[in-house]
Amino acid sequence: MLPFSVDKPEHPKIIFENDDAEESNMTQVHSEMTQFSHITSYHDGKHEVVLSDPVFCNPNSIATVARVLKKIGEENGIIKYGGTKRHWTFVCCDGLPYMIIKKLKEEAVVCAIEGCGKSFLSMDNYSNHTTEIHPTVQRRFVFEFDWLYVRIGSGHYEMNLIKGFFALNWIPVLENLCQTMGFESDSAKNFAKSCKDHHKSWRLLLIFHLGTLQELVLPYVRHSMLTNKKPDAKGFLKYSSENYTSSSYPNFTYMVDQVCKYSQGIINFRMANRRNNADLLKSAKYMTKEIFHGRNHPKYQMIELYDSIQDRMMPDDVRSLSDKYSSITTSGNPSLGEDFRLHSRRKKQTTEVLDPKRCAF
Ligand SMILES: [Zn+2]
Repeated sequence: MLPFSVDKPEHPKIIFENDDAEESNMTQVHSEMTQFSHITSYHDGKHEVVLSDPVFCNPNSIATVARVLKKIGEENGIIKYGGTKRHWTFVCCDGLPYMIIKKLKEEAVVCAIEGCGKSFLSMDNYSNHTTEIHPTVQRRFVFEFDWLYVRIGSGHYEMNLIKGFFALNWIPVLENLCQTMGFESDSAKNFAKSCKDHHKSWRLLLIFHLGTLQELVLPYVRHSMLTNKKPDAKGFLKYSSENYTSSSYPNFTYMVDQVCKYSQGIINFRMANRRNNADLLKSAKYMTKEIFHGRNHPKYQMIELYDSIQDRMMPDDVRSLSDKYSSITTSGNPSLGEDFRLHSRRKKQTTEVLDPKRCAF
């Protein structure tokens, strides 16, 4: 079964549910997008996003990101900052602040020598401090940002996957495809290649995915008809591993890899986010990770690795909680999950009116 239809627009399905909770004749009516209905949705009702005061600084340096994190810690009642509510929390952000938070988690320390308690954003600064202030005492410190797990915003992650896929497949396939779809001049081609409009890139990716998949399925269906067998998905996978991986058909081998692993992985990534399906999300990240290496994208190479390692090393209870909220929906629609970063970004647009420069929280 194909996950999407390119030709037909997706129509929402109208759902009628009787309200069992109260003994009334009320019927709840909501619409549900049917395009991802074959993926199990783990959304647990709708969630409200609460916005706290913005921190007016651009989170692009060690000092500003540390300032934002401290503010998050204080506002969320983290015990380390004198709060009483919780010992730890999750923090979700995009690529650049993610790398800075990773560095801060590894390097920012608080001097634990009695009576001191000063914070340092790097180990070098801490070393200088101990040499100057406590030359005779043995070093003791605690990590300042050990109270947070960092999560990557899936919107930017998906954009970077698609950009990587387009860059790597531009010459063999996508240049011709985009030209056929009307991107004819050099500047139009550059626009398509660099994925300047994410929605257009997404439609082009689907056209590539479904078109190529159909080309790959066709020889299998012909083969099934000749041998009087009913074609099915498992049969296709067996056929493709027996025939398309042969060295006599390098083009088929390449296309099976691009379609069944990479473009399907990107599509699965989006579906997993929409449906809050943590297992599918992890499998999609695993299947697509080579795109960041093929395209030499060091920031996201590191993010993917750090994200996987962090996930493996979490205590089981923490992982269950993290998986339960891979994405959230504010409308209650089980196909419209978004990551926390995207929700805050939408709300942020209102606050940017106050400060035309970028602000963060
Ligand atoms: Zn000290």
